Amino acid sequence: MAKTIKNKKTEHTAACVSCGMLINESQQKIINHKHYCKYCAPEIQEILKPPTSAALPLFVAPVGVLRVLTYIVCIFSPLIGFVLGMLYISQADQENKKFGKKCFIFMGIGIAFWGIVFIVNAFFDLMLLGSKAAGMFGFKIGEGYY
Ligand SMILES: [Zn+2]
Repeated sequence: MAKTIKNKKTEHTAACVSCGMLINESQQKIINHKHYCKYCAPEIQEILKPPTSAALPLFVAPVGVLRVLTYIVCIFSPLIGFVLGMLYISQADQENKKFGKKCFIFMGIGIAFWGIVFIVNAFFDLMLLGSKAAGMFGFKIGEGYY
């Protein structure tokens, strides 16, 4: 039967593999080397289309103990906190965005923490320098080094 139609209407070059409708050259859509009519082609394309990155989060925010550990890492290494924060805050996923924000918060805590450590360290350095200077003037502090 298809043969007779083909002979009568030569412009029909293929049949849709999905619905079997005869299609001419201007209407046919070739997807994965298969012919589809203009009605079936959009459906097939929708099925074959790879999922968009926005719909599927690339990174999943850690949960439970791992999440707490990540926050601790953010405090001790603000740079890691910054990188993680940037990574997660750019995600479309709401849970990831929240996690990214928290990474930034803990990064802030980390920076404050290291700032205090730095100041305290500098303070003790000054004290040590002071005591060394004092040692030069005859005081007995830091005697073991000499
Ligand atoms: Zn079709």
